[in-house]
Amino acid sequence: MAFKKSSITLPSMTPGTQRNISVLRFGKAGARPKVYMQAAIHANEMPGTMALHHLMPLLTEANQKGLIQGEIILVPTVNPIGQAQLVGNSHAGRYNLLSYENFNRNWIDLSDAVAARVGNKLGADADTNVRTIRKAAQDSLKALKPLNELGTLRVEVQKLSCDADFVLDLHCDIYAALHLFGAKNDVATGTLTSLAADLGVEATMYNDPYPKALTFSGVNSVLWARLAEQFPQANIPQACMSVTVEMRSQHDVSDALGQSDAQNLYRWLVRQGVVGGKAAPLKKLKTAPAPMSGMDVGYSTCTGFLVFHVKPGAKVKKGQAICDVIDPANPHGAKGRTTFTSQTDGVLFSRRLDGYLSWPGQVMYRICGPQPLPHRIGATGLDD
Ligand SMILES: [Zn+2]
Repeated sequence: MAFKKSSITLPSMTPGTQRNISVLRFGKAGARPKVYMQAAIHANEMPGTMALHHLMPLLTEANQKGLIQGEIILVPTVNPIGQAQLVGNSHAGRYNLLSYENFNRNWIDLSDAVAARVGNKLGADADTNVRTIRKAAQDSLKALKPLNELGTLRVEVQKLSCDADFVLDLHCDIYAALHLFGAKNDVATGTLTSLAADLGVEATMYNDPYPKALTFSGVNSVLWARLAEQFPQANIPQACMSVTVEMRSQHDVSDALGQSDAQNLYRWLVRQGVVGGKAAPLKKLKTAPAPMSGMDVGYSTCTGFLVFHVKPGAKVKKGQAICDVIDPANPHGAKGRTTFTSQTDGVLFSRRLDGYLSWPGQVMYRICGPQPLPHRIGATGLDD
């Protein structure tokens, strides 16, 4: 068989309209490892969709040859609500226009619901615990009664992902180098590092112990970390590696990048035993994984427009000028500029575009630094 395609129908929000999510399945239902990949939850972020466009023919061929050992579920455009938000000839895909919430927040942390269902049944056998927790997670989602379209989207999508061994949420930034966000538990086992090396990322950052914002990748990994913390007497492994992959910039959509990203994902699937075969040797990781608390987030303090001194992927030094905000009505040349400098040595992995307006509190850039920064401990940097 080549693949199975199905569709999730979301409830109608306005008379005469209804939206669907397409789901592609490769391999054997219920087989392990199970991989779930989605793209474009921020609906105007298409590099991940492009990578899946090139990955699907590879998986179709592998499936026809009987090479897929596990189960792979792909959702190339997971957010039809955001896809439809065409406003004044622009595509507004990041925030839900109904509620102004970021589409990658307010996902469902199932840990309390699962704990209430099975906490007292968890014991010393890890495999049994994993099966019990996965079933309870599905049952908890089935018990929810979402009120509207976006609530239904979240529940239905988490039903696809909550029992996966690996979850990849494919995003991009405005202007960025390839980077990813994962969990510290997966750095310790080497699984996050292996994905980072196969993808060739410029920066790898991890939450410790888990993220505050309820991002999609966050809730999928947090389930295990929180249950392990809540039931220390039970043997609860980190049974899902869930990762946000930021696939460069919004405009980084090309066949060349899509093909190489698809090949990198495919090689990683082989390495994890999801697809049969022998994986090519692992590439060397470009930068060591770093804690989220080492991430220097450049916040603007003034109004004006931005001009940058460095591009994404640049290695920077503490004290180095990263960008200026220019006051357009200040006649004194250089004195009309406010310069922002890096607070760490590291890799500048994302920034806004030159010429963007700047406003107080705006995130202008992010830098991955190796050591926790005192002012960043406890902060997320996920400010928008
Ligand atoms: Zn995004």
